[in-house]
Amino acid sequence: MIPFAVKRLLYYAYQKGMTKMFGCIFCQIASHEKPSTLYYEDEQCVALRDIHPHSPMHILVVPRKHLASLNDITAEDEPLLGHLVAVAARIAKEKGTAASGFRIVINTNADGGQTVFHLHLHVMGGRRMTWPPG
Ligand code: 5GP
Ligand code: ZN
Repeated sequence: MIPFAVKRLLYYAYQKGMTKMFGCIFCQIASHEKPSTLYYEDEQCVALRDIHPHSPMHILVVPRKHLASLNDITAEDEPLLGHLVAVAARIAKEKGTAASGFRIVINTNADGGQTVFHLHLHVMGGRRMTWPPG
């Protein structure tokens, strides 16, 4: 069995290596270098349709600022996080899911299921979610 510290180190190297090799995909999307179906944008964030949706509404709210994950935020990012949640809630409302319900998810690192290491909120709705999540 691989010790926890070694696992963490390998995961850290993987996450840094992927971003270094291919660049940060969400930075590229936020700066319009890479095309995507943008649903909304402002000076702090962009919102786009997830390329592999897991619900009828599956939108990602992505800050323009590169933060690898929630583990990297500092006190100065707190207003930004509030803005991201507010944008997510507004999108859920515009998409007609406010009354029926929706879910906001921020996957963080390996156990959280994070695959893109640029902080983002999943805004999901249009179907009944299950709990606990898998
Ligand atoms: P995570 O697993 O990090 O929480 O979520 C990453 C999400 O980004 C996944 O749901 C994945 O489908 C989505 N994604 C990855 N690459 C792209 C892309 O190039 N364009 C879009 N629109 N979504 C992407
Ligand atoms: Zn980035």
